[in-house]
Amino acid sequence: MAEKVVIIGSGPSGWTAAIYAARAELTPLVYEGESTSENSDAGRPPLGQLFLTTEVENYPGFPVGHLHGYLDSAIDASIAYLRFPKPEGDDKHGVTGPDLMLLMKQQALNFGTRVVGEDIVAVDFDQRPFKLFTSGGKTVETETVIIATGASANYLGLESEARYKNHGVSACAVCDGALPRFRNKPLVVVGGGDSAVEEADFLSKFASKVFLVHRREELRASKIMQQRAINNPKIEITWNHALAEVLGEEKLGVTGARLESTVGKGSRRVDASGVFLAIGHTPNTAFLKGKLQMNAKGYLVWTKPQRTYTSVEGVFAAGDVADDYYRQAITAAGTGCMAALDAERYLAAKGL
Ligand code: NAP
Repeated sequence: MAEKVVIIGSGPSGWTAAIYAARAELTPLVYEGESTSENSDAGRPPLGQLFLTTEVENYPGFPVGHLHGYLDSAIDASIAYLRFPKPEGDDKHGVTGPDLMLLMKQQALNFGTRVVGEDIVAVDFDQRPFKLFTSGGKTVETETVIIATGASANYLGLESEARYKNHGVSACAVCDGALPRFRNKPLVVVGGGDSAVEEADFLSKFASKVFLVHRREELRASKIMQQRAINNPKIEITWNHALAEVLGEEKLGVTGARLESTVGKGSRRVDASGVFLAIGHTPNTAFLKGKLQMNAKGYLVWTKPQRTYTSVEGVFAAGDVADDYYRQAITAAGTGCMAALDAERYLAAKGL
């Protein structure tokens, strides 16, 4: 028998959709993605981008670093290294990204959500029920689909960047920053948005110094994050520069970076044991190419204002996969809720 609702993706939008669909007794099935190094390297691990982040200070309702007793003790212990004690007097607490995601998943499970640790690699929306094809070689049939696959971190595409990937080049400070090779050494972070500042701030806890390399002379990051970078004595902002080459040696991995001025002809070399890219994201829609309407950047298009409808009736989109503008955990959760309500109403209208 066909499923009523299949949710593809396991970030804030996916779990929120699951909580709503489960409470509507639609027994949703979530494909949370495979836990492989390929998915991790591509920046799309199960539980989404927040699983790769440190603190989430702007998700309402979580003004504490850690909620004791809600997660399985082994899982709880596995993310303990992320929960840095705050300096005395700093009351700007937030939950860690992994804590928040695991709590969301637990809440979805509590109401009867079923979870499969596979990717959906292809879809057939030409017939109903729809057919989804999994990375495990199975086919699942479903009346509605909620796409919540999010977006993944970009790389610059330099040959030297690819050569030293996982040998000092990373797009995830939280995943890799605590590795011994980065401790007490200078590091480079490329980018000028909130992610770049967050990564630089996080890495400064381990590194001797962090060069935050930005191609302009003004950060895109929010004011509070800008201030954090400026106030951090370990962060040196290298304005008007672009990463031209990652320097390294076969045995040592990354040893430095060549930075080129974006306003003149100058170039400078810095010693560094790591280069972290934080230059934006690409939506995870490759498996939907030609199946759903997308914008020029590959984000799914909502075909009706205030609705999560896609170009195929019965297929809904939620979270960053359809949002290249707000891209916040809370907006993703909000559209996840909307998608579940849209799916529920669609099923009711069709008598399914
Ligand atoms: P973003 O805001 O799009 O910033 C990307 C940065 O990378 C920009 O500074 C951009 O430079 C730079 N960049 C892009 N392509 C580049 C290239 N080819 N070479 C050099 N630099 C390049 O992305 P984000 O920082 O990942 O943030 C995404 C969203 O998540 C934002 O809405 C952000 O507010 C949110 N976020 C929030 C938090 C938080 O609140 N704690 C943390 C992380 C992210 P230009 O500025 O010159 O365009």
